[in-house]
Amino acid sequence: MIDPKTRLLVVSAHAADFVWRAGGTIAKYTKSGAQVSLVILSYGARGESNDLWNIEGMTEDRVKAVRRDEIEKAASHLNVTDMEIWDFQDYHMYIDQERMERMTAKIRAVAPHIILTHGPRDAFNPDHETVSRYVFEASVLSTSNGVRMEGYPTATQAKLFGFEPHQPEISDFKPDIIVDITDTYEQKEAAMNCFKAQKHLIEYYGWKAKLRGNHARRCSGNKNYQYAEAFSRFFPLVGGELI
Ligand SMILES: [Zn+2]
Repeated sequence: MIDPKTRLLVVSAHAADFVWRAGGTIAKYTKSGAQVSLVILSYGARGESNDLWNIEGMTEDRVKAVRRDEIEKAASHLNVTDMEIWDFQDYHMYIDQERMERMTAKIRAVAPHIILTHGPRDAFNPDHETVSRYVFEASVLSTSNGVRMEGYPTATQAKLFGFEPHQPEISDFKPDIIVDITDTYEQKEAAMNCFKAQKHLIEYYGWKAKLRGNHARRCSGNKNYQYAEAFSRFFPLVGGELI
């Protein structure tokens, strides 16, 4: 059972990453009444909007407008209402001191129990690796009393989880946790269908959810799991018992 008092911060490098990699899980948290805050760092205009650039006369502004519309529709299918698009340039994304402070302040403002973002390795997507390191470092800075920010008190270390990368085997990805999304898969599917700029991925991530559902059944013995999403953990699981 997800505690409705949970605060979850999701950081997505590009327009649709949060849907492909975690849409079902995000929908589970919103459904439970948890507070979900979503930050989308870029529209993915340069690196993840290839279908749109095949249209004659396309401009970066038009790509961003289409992607904004898609993001808003997808987020509404997942019942996410707290969402910010920071409009960083993608491919490549660069993180300077100002951006590091902005993320640190955001983490302190949300004070999340859980942060969901990109895992440390992604063989063909340097932006995802940059964002993984960015969010990890900001989460650490957010907990340091010596990092003074007016109006933003020091945060407690959040649990960090990494999205499954697009090519898991060649990105050294092994699931540390598999989350059952059977109850919210329809919402994920509806959200995926909003992203006409990356149509080729809709089928791919539908199959991925079924594959992880198979692993969820095999690992748990629970035959009711049909769809799932996999994540890595940045830190070991800590508790008072073996769970
Ligand atoms: Zn991406």
